[in-house]
Amino acid sequence: MVVAGTLYIVPTPIGNLGDISARALEVLGAVDAIAAEDTRTTARLLQHFGLHKPLIALHDHNEKQRGALLVERLQRGESLALVSEAGTPLISDPGYSLVAQCHQAGCRVLPLPGPCAAVAALSAAGLPTDRFVFEGFLPARSSARRSQLQGLLRETRTLVFYESPRRVMECLADLQAVFGRERPAALAKELTKIHEAVISGTLATLEQWLQDDSQRQQGEFVLMVAGAPALDEAASSEAEGQRLLALLIDELPLKKAAAVAASFTGAGRNALYQYGLSLRQGE
Ligand code: SAM
Repeated sequence: MVVAGTLYIVPTPIGNLGDISARALEVLGAVDAIAAEDTRTTARLLQHFGLHKPLIALHDHNEKQRGALLVERLQRGESLALVSEAGTPLISDPGYSLVAQCHQAGCRVLPLPGPCAAVAALSAAGLPTDRFVFEGFLPARSSARRSQLQGLLRETRTLVFYESPRRVMECLADLQAVFGRERPAALAKELTKIHEAVISGTLATLEQWLQDDSQRQQGEFVLMVAGAPALDEAASSEAEGQRLLALLIDELPLKKAAAVAASFTGAGRNALYQYGLSLRQGE
């Protein structure tokens, strides 16, 4: 059933309770205690499946200290499970510090496969999945968000973002400002729930789809953006130069920023200067 002294990482449903696995229930029923991001949500989940277990609150603010106590329990031979509010622990959720502490202390950590919004969304998005980059949540402030996106401008792998309903429209606006309206993209919302939808198109068509009915802007979202096409060497240094310039432009006068970006990347200084002017006009 479960092995003594082991921490099990147990994914839980992201909406539909039918997605809990038989093994997840077996492990949750067999461990000595469950560390949970949100003990109320987990208590409800356990109750639904007729399970009763001691719960230990483990969230970003107490993870370091609590982690040490949990490691002691594992070292005494207890078996524990870690769950988050929904989906796979550690994926934009707490658990990293605990798992790292377990490895440092020589405790065994075993994962159960199960629900994860990013993987579920990707599998239905119609975008390349052979290589992808999980970016989690973008910064809340638009300027920080845009500068992070600028850093991803030449990324050729499919990009995956988590987003809340509060910011999904703003985020789509920034994605279009940086990657262009026509970049292929997909969104997955409310996966496994009543209003679930997976829409594939371009960044502009996704925005349109959300604007057509404000109800569609409610719920939980995964946004996915196709990677940039691979470039030849000249185009690649130009793109690198633009990327660096976009990062430097807030820190240095434009002329200096263009010169630094040109000498680091081999891109043309004048072309970068002109690009910098266009960025400033767009602000
Ligand atoms: N650990 C979770 C996982 O494995 O997917 C993610 C937790 S993160 C705090 C919550 C974010 O995941 C939401 O803001 C949304 O971006 C995404 N998400 C969670 N459930 C979802 C669902 N049912 N449909 C679409 N996105 C979802």
